[in-house]
Amino acid sequence: MLIIFDKDDTLVHSLDGRPANTLDEQVLIDGVVERCAQLRAEGHTLAIASNQGGAAFGYFSVADAHALVAQVAKAIGAQHYAVCVCHPHGSVPGAARESEYRKPNPGMLLYLMDALGFGAGDTIYVGDRDDDREAANRAGVRFAWAQEFFAQENLPG
Ligand SMILES: [Mg+2]
Repeated sequence: MLIIFDKDDTLVHSLDGRPANTLDEQVLIDGVVERCAQLRAEGHTLAIASNQGGAAFGYFSVADAHALVAQVAKAIGAQHYAVCVCHPHGSVPGAARESEYRKPNPGMLLYLMDALGFGAGDTIYVGDRDDDREAANRAGVRFAWAQEFFAQENLPG
């Protein structure tokens, strides 16, 4: 099974209602590392799909956006990750636009499925927001709420 995770408020804590903007600010949610290690031991492939629209507003650079997601991918043993730095209301040229990769669009999920060789029936997306659930719906894959996913021993059927 391919298990794709959202990052913010799924794997790492937000701070006062905003996502972590620096590597030092990123703190993994309790239990995430252990559960992900268990999933890998069971033979599952892990990945992350993360909107990083803050780069489109200049809150951090595109390189920083990738470093933030890469740090968490390494921590959970994810095989791959996808990032979208676009935001339609952003101000940074090039990134200030809508994208098929920006959730709730399904582009990142479809890319990871193709990159890692999994079909829709063998993929689960885990997230904390309605945009995450909608992205899963548009990609045709199962969705699990992060809190429920990490509270349960078994994968959602
Ligand atoms: Mg989130």
